[in-house]
Amino acid sequence: MARIVQKFGGTSVANTDRIKAVALRVKAEVDAGNEVAVTLSAMAGETNKLVEYVTTMSSLYDAREYDTVVSSGEQVTAGLLALALQDLGISARSWMGWQIPLRTDDVHGKARIEKIETGELEVRLSRGEVCVIAGFQGLGPDNRITTLGRGGTDTSAVALAAALKADRCDIYTDVDGVYTTDPRITPKAQKIEKITYEEMLEMASVGAKVLQTRSVELAMKEKVRVQVLSSYSDEPGTLVVDEDEVVEKELVSGIAYSRDEAKVTLVGVPDQPGIAAGIFGPLADSGINVDMIVQNISQDNKSTDMTFTLPKADLERAVATLESKHSHLEYKDLRFDENVAKVSVIGVGMRSHAGVAQRMFTTLAEKGINIQVISTSEIKVSVLIAEEYTELAVRALHTAYGLDGD
Ligand code: ADP
Ligand code: ASP
Ligand code: MG
Repeated sequence: MARIVQKFGGTSVANTDRIKAVALRVKAEVDAGNEVAVTLSAMAGETNKLVEYVTTMSSLYDAREYDTVVSSGEQVTAGLLALALQDLGISARSWMGWQIPLRTDDVHGKARIEKIETGELEVRLSRGEVCVIAGFQGLGPDNRITTLGRGGTDTSAVALAAALKADRCDIYTDVDGVYTTDPRITPKAQKIEKITYEEMLEMASVGAKVLQTRSVELAMKEKVRVQVLSSYSDEPGTLVVDEDEVVEKELVSGIAYSRDEAKVTLVGVPDQPGIAAGIFGPLADSGINVDMIVQNISQDNKSTDMTFTLPKADLERAVATLESKHSHLEYKDLRFDENVAKVSVIGVGMRSHAGVAQRMFTTLAEKGINIQVISTSEIKVSVLIAEEYTELAVRALHTAYGLDGD
C-alpha cells in the first residue's frame, strides 16, 4: 500500500465529464489499495475570468478581496469531484484550505505555505476515505483566505505530499510530461524521461508553465518524488529527480519562454551610490519582483539609464510606485514596453562547458533577432527580445542545440 497525492490541472477538470474521468483515475488508485489525497485546480479559464472581474471592479485592488474572489473556482471543482467519487461508491469529502487548515503567510495573491495541519486528513486517509482538497488556496495569519500565485495548485500538491509523507506526487496535466520545450511551440519537442530538480526549477522559473516554480523548490527541499503525466493517456510521464539519478547529462536540456514580463526603463537617473536601492527597494516593498536588470554606462558621469523587467501583472502598480518616488529618483523619463518575451536555454551541462551562450547569440543574430537584455546563471542563459519573435527564437534554438526530434 502506498500513499499518493494526485493533482489535476484546469483542463483536466474543465467540465463535469472531465471530472468524472478524473474520478475514475482516483478510483484506480483506491482499487489498487492506496491511500489517496487529491488536489484540484479550477475549471480551465475560470481563474482568468475571476481575475478579470476583480481588475474590472478595481484596478489597484485590495489583494485580500482578490483572494476571496479568485480562490472560489477551486471550491467548485473540489465539491464536484467529491460528488463524482461518492457516485462511484468511494468514500470522499472536499476540503477547503481553511478547513484543513493549510496555513500560509500573509502575502495575499502569492502566499507561501507555512504549515499544513494534517491530523484530520491522516485519520480519514487511514480509514480509506479520499481527501479532495481545493488547490491554490490557504488560510493567512489574518484568518482570511489566501491564494498561492497563478499555477499554485502544483505547490498545494507538493506541499501536501511532503506533509503527508506521501510515496508519490502525481501531477496530471494536458501534456504527458516535461518536454525539451513547450510542445505547443514546436512539434519537434521531445519528452524528457528524467529531469533534475535543478533544471526543472530553472525551466519553471523562466516560464515553462508545466510546473509552478515554488512547487519544484519545495519538491527539491523536501525530496518529494514528482511525476508529470497526462490525464488523457496512460503514457509514462516525466520524473523529477536528484542529479545523481540522471545518467546522461545533456549540455542543454530545454528551451523556455515567457511572455509574462514587461520591460521598464528609467531614463536619466543620477549616476550615484544608492540609486539602485532607491529604485528597487520601494518596488520590493510593494511586493513586486524584479527580474533582469541592466544599468547603462553613463555618458557624462552624471546620469544613467536603468532597465529592468517585472511581471506584466505588476506593471501598473510598479509605475504608480516609481511615479510616487519621482522627486527622490529624479529620472527624466519612465518608459515601459509590454511587447517583450524572455527566451532561455537551460542545462546542468553548462557548468562545465563554455560556448553555450555564444551559440545562443549567434543563432538569434542569424535570424535577425535583436537582444535587448541578457541575464545568466550557472545553468541558464536568458535574453529579452521583441515578443513577435518568440516562436521563431524558440524553434531556432531548439534546432541549434540539437534537441529536435523526428
Ligand atoms: P495545468 O492546467 O494542468 O496546470 P498548465 O497549463 O499550467 O496545466 O501546464 C501545462 C502546459 O505547460 C502545457 O499545455 C504546455 O503548453 C506548457 N508547457 C510549457 N513548457 C513546457 C514544457 N517544457 N514541457 C511540457 N509542457 C510545457
Ligand atoms: N486555478 C489557479 C490558476 O489558474 C491555480 C492552478 O490552476 O494551479 O492559476
Ligand atoms: Mg498549471
